Amino acid sequence: MTSAHQLKHSRAVPRRKALISGAGVAGPALAFWLNRLGFEVTVVEKAPALRSGGYPVDLRGTALEVVRRMGILPRLRDAHIDLRRLTFLAADGGEVASVHPHSVTGGVAGHDLEVRRGDLSDALHAAVRDDVEFLSNDAIATLDEHDHGIDVAFRGGGTRRFDVVFGADGLHSHTRRMLWGPEEQFHRYLGYCFAVFTMPNTFGLSHETVMWNTPGRAAALYAVGDHDDVHAFLNFAHPHPPFGAFPDPRAQRALVESAFADAGWEVPGMLAAMRDGNDLFFDAVSQIRTPRWSDGRVALVGDAAWAPSFLTGQGTSLALVGAYMLAASLADRDHSSGFAAYELDTRGFVTANQALVGKGGATLFPTTAQALEERNARLRELTSIPPTKARPAHSALVLPDFMPVV
Ligand SMILES: Cc1cc2nc3c(=O)[nH]c(=O)nc-3n(C[C@H](O)[C@H](O)[C@H](O)COP(=O)(O)OP(=O)(O)OC[C@H]3O[C@@H](n4cnc5c(N)ncnc54)[C@H](O)[C@@H]3O)c2cc1C
Repeated sequence: MTSAHQLKHSRAVPRRKALISGAGVAGPALAFWLNRLGFEVTVVEKAPALRSGGYPVDLRGTALEVVRRMGILPRLRDAHIDLRRLTFLAADGGEVASVHPHSVTGGVAGHDLEVRRGDLSDALHAAVRDDVEFLSNDAIATLDEHDHGIDVAFRGGGTRRFDVVFGADGLHSHTRRMLWGPEEQFHRYLGYCFAVFTMPNTFGLSHETVMWNTPGRAAALYAVGDHDDVHAFLNFAHPHPPFGAFPDPRAQRALVESAFADAGWEVPGMLAAMRDGNDLFFDAVSQIRTPRWSDGRVALVGDAAWAPSFLTGQGTSLALVGAYMLAASLADRDHSSGFAAYELDTRGFVTANQALVGKGGATLFPTTAQALEERNARLRELTSIPPTKARPAHSALVLPDFMPVV
């Protein structure tokens, strides 16, 4: 029963209303912490349902402390996929080197986690779904900010007023476009495009990745378990970001087919699986760099604000840490000083992690014959040295305490 004191308190201090666009990683993590702070939270997601399964993502450094504070670390430890081997192949399919994945990624064995994106998504949703309103298959149509809040019209119909709105809607953020215009201004293309899709594991692979390289092209098979499908991955150098292909799966397939038309190894079978499958994910390998992360009552978080690209392996970790920092900044401040504090306290961490990009690209996707030969020589040496230490950037932020840990 509600006590007289609670009633008085809730009348005196109306709950702040927050709308989050995007239910990927940053969205539900932010929803979790804002709900703990007493916000009334709505999450709107354009997809009709959560995507299960999915490619593996890494959780490292400070992000592990975020999921520990959320109470989902044990569940994620159970979901750890424990990739044990990364084998590099030459153009003729011969082995160049076989190393522990951490030798290349800078992960720390026994500490860092690698989980299917869908398993992380399930854990995040389980932690918030009873306390937060989720609207799926819908999106923000327009934002109209004024002194008393921000009126949001939804594509599915209806208008509602919120105190704050958050864009957690990924690399191609629609919220960012509504604030500041076309993505091209903030898109820092790193020179590659990639396609990921699943195909049957007819290769006998288990907890391992096999990667075939020729200059400017890489094809990889990720086996996250013994019997699951493999995640097929095709990455290729391309002179400019194919903005026209982002909304067009047929154009995406055509680009990938032409880049790998004469490729050897298992690539012809991978292309056939891509043609026949229905879970193709295609994108440019790019970062997002914006001079600010908020405007008025709207703030961005995760890939929408600072996508670091998968070459850093830090997109998921930055999304989780960013969501925590954004909520923490609002614990005892209004949106305007809170958003300023969020950016001040988080930007250095994000910048340090975005800077990791050079290491990933040079190792995984050399674009010239000489760079590939040098990479292969380095890899042959790696087999004889112990796994690397953690990269300092992964832990370069100490989380503030803003509420009791669950
Ligand atoms: C193939 C691949 C491999 C990767 N590997 C790694 C890795 O090893 N390690 C790692 O840390 N990271 C990796 N990443 C990156 C990682 O997935 C992202 O950085 C991370 O998911 C970012 O989280 P986010 O919540 O900001 O964005 P997202 O996870 O992209 O979520 C955005 C959400 O917003 C929704 N949305 C989009 N537009 C709208 C709209 N208009 N309205 C409402 N909802 C909308 C989307 O449907 C999605 O659910 C990889 C990414 C890819 C594609």
